[in-house]
Amino acid sequence: MKYYSTNKQADKATLQEAVVKGLASDRGLFMPEVIKQLPASFFDKMKDMSFQEIAYVVADAFFGEDVDAESLKKIVYDTLSFDVPLVHVNDHIFSLELFHGPTLAFKDVGARFMSRLLGYFIKKEGQKEVNVLVATSGDTGSAVANGFLGVEGIHVYVLYPKGKVSPIQECQFTTLGKNITALEIDGVFDDCQALVKSAFMDKDLNNHMKLTSANSINVARFLPQAFYYFYAVAQLHKLGIKDNIVICVPSGNFGNITAGLFGKRMGMPVSRFIAANNRNDIFFNYLKSGKYEPKPSVQTIANAMDVGDPSNFARVLALYGSHEAICKDIAGCTYTDEQIRETLKNCYQQHKYLLDPHGAVGYRALCEYLKPNEVGVFLETAHPAKFKDTVEAIIGEPVVIPAKLQEFMKGKKQSIELPKTFETFKSYLMAQ
Ligand SMILES: *Cc1c(COP(=O)(O)O)cnc(C)c1O
Repeated sequence: MKYYSTNKQADKATLQEAVVKGLASDRGLFMPEVIKQLPASFFDKMKDMSFQEIAYVVADAFFGEDVDAESLKKIVYDTLSFDVPLVHVNDHIFSLELFHGPTLAFKDVGARFMSRLLGYFIKKEGQKEVNVLVATSGDTGSAVANGFLGVEGIHVYVLYPKGKVSPIQECQFTTLGKNITALEIDGVFDDCQALVKSAFMDKDLNNHMKLTSANSINVARFLPQAFYYFYAVAQLHKLGIKDNIVICVPSGNFGNITAGLFGKRMGMPVSRFIAANNRNDIFFNYLKSGKYEPKPSVQTIANAMDVGDPSNFARVLALYGSHEAICKDIAGCTYTDEQIRETLKNCYQQHKYLLDPHGAVGYRALCEYLKPNEVGVFLETAHPAKFKDTVEAIIGEPVVIPAKLQEFMKGKKQSIELPKTFETFKSYLMAQ
């Protein structure tokens, strides 16, 4: 399969090139040239298949031409060693709990898949060390760092905004050591993202070391996220629910929802999507006005969605081609911190279901916009304990931290502080 750039100026790339480069040379995002339709027979029997079995069918459609069947199966099964249960919350609303992986957030799926696929290519080609640069507003860093921890031939640099990620998130990528280096940047998430983007474009740096990204711009990270959408639909089918399925995705960089939109293009029976935003309302405004106007991000209590220029917007546009087509499949909404708090509290009190601040945005959107004949699934993107302080302050009760998370908190923080200027970042990397 060939991958083209959303900017259309760069040559088409192979899967391996797209995974290793991350971003195309014209700064565009890679898109698969063909999106395969899955047969009706697959959708009919999906309800009787396991998560891994479903995921392998989807993975084969994406990557089957480029990775041999046995290796791909191993990568998929190894990535999905945890469940993604669909939990009924109330009325016609279900939560797809994506937080049962090692760092308790949905990004585990993409990060684990990507590390294994990259490892496969490095081994196959006998390549020299690859350096992964990842900008994080919290959860990406922990998922990528843990997904790549100890993978031979890969070093990971995590860039995160100083003081703007929760202590629990921070310890998940600053305490690991080994092939993981945490860089604490004096700025906001968009500064971290800009540093990473500039590094990929810098000739000296690219001559000095082999660089790649692990943000949701990387095809190996964002495409595997389609797996659990199919599994969510399969679980609904098992309950006898087949029609008018709506999926609501708490969105920041729009990698997660884009993977779901790919699923729909492959024939997945979902009638529409809702992109739920916090106060960072760039996409919401785009739906209203047809104009895409990035802004500096604002800080919210759903901080993994504090993105002012969602990178995967380019993919959504490439997939649909027009504002009109986008509006047919996707609705949007935006909520303040106050509304997020209110929703989290009410849901806990009324339905005994504890949301995290990101999931709360998705849940609220379904409460407000689901039509009477529809069934809604929102993606619960992180475990509430990852945002312990925020959640406890809202519900007035202690939140139990799962054992997996407690382990991280015992480690010692190791990070390197850097200003947000590219020159300093560059000299740091040149010295490695
Ligand atoms: C990353 C993240 C999001 C946003 O996902 P995108 O793919 O960037 O849209 C939402 N919730 C949580 C908990 C996250 O970590």
